[in-house]
Amino acid sequence: MSQSPLIETINLTKHFDLGKQGGVRQVVHALDGISLQIAEQEILGLVGESGSGKSTYGKTLIGLHDKTAGEVRLRGETLPAHYHPRDFERHATSMQMIFQDPYSSLNPRMTVGEIIGEGLKLHTKASAAEVRDKVTGWLEQVGLQGEHAGRYPHEFSGGQRQRIGIARAMILEPEFVVCDEPISALDVSVQAQVINLLDDLKASMGLTMLFIAHDLSMVRYVSDRMAVMYLGMVVELGPANDVFFSPKHPYTEVLVASNPEPDPITERSRASTTISGEIPSPVNVGAGCRFASRCPKVMDICRSTTPELNPLKDDSIRQVACHLF
Ligand code: SF4
Repeated sequence: MSQSPLIETINLTKHFDLGKQGGVRQVVHALDGISLQIAEQEILGLVGESGSGKSTYGKTLIGLHDKTAGEVRLRGETLPAHYHPRDFERHATSMQMIFQDPYSSLNPRMTVGEIIGEGLKLHTKASAAEVRDKVTGWLEQVGLQGEHAGRYPHEFSGGQRQRIGIARAMILEPEFVVCDEPISALDVSVQAQVINLLDDLKASMGLTMLFIAHDLSMVRYVSDRMAVMYLGMVVELGPANDVFFSPKHPYTEVLVASNPEPDPITERSRASTTISGEIPSPVNVGAGCRFASRCPKVMDICRSTTPELNPLKDDSIRQVACHLF
């Protein structure tokens, strides 16, 4: 990545302490030392199985979870671990999140207009009339109608609710948006509509995004680069097409192979490896490669030494954390 990053995390770490069991402290290693950069107007896709830490990364990055260690920088400025009320408004309007579940993320007791306009009321000095006008404008921009402002979330379909969630995030004109599995709770028939809407907004607003999903084909379509997470660590990073069509890390290989490609010609040209077993528990993980228990290419060193994410010798744009490279 040649441009200076809009947003970056340096060794971002999030552990959840579960207390002692049998005299041993149980610590969930949800994120361990994630260092990623996202350039202005770039979409970074983040993929991995459930339990890999993708959503925790998005939430910790944006400040919805306190971090255990590490830094988040926006335009080179380190964001505080806990926001002072004076700083909160500045950062709340810079970074927003679109949530996975459009059913639980909208307050059922608030009208759609109140939901979409709430951020403007809280974080800006906009008058009631300005808030109303902007809400109407954003309802129309996401494909709904101004008169929908007076209705309640239960009166809308899943796809429409996700459009309301998108309008709520975008009305503050953020520089950076985390999209956390924004289509996985939706019917297949409306998924493409929501992706097209995000694509249009990215083009018209010059947005920078972290796009979290488990559907690799979708992430390849949407993203400029793709990062692959496994058990709280990034194991591969590179241009989205390169990672998808020529995966290097054994985990990415099996992840790609288990993700059907809609085009039968490209589907035939891909690897046919399959993944076995479930992602191990993230509690008290020890040294060594975290994929070792499932890796078809495991070696002795893998069980004792944790591989670092390093550039490939012949393609420095790509990075892989594996002793094979
Ligand atoms: Fe497999 Fe070893 Fe590479 Fe881990 S480091 S992915 S166990 S070969």
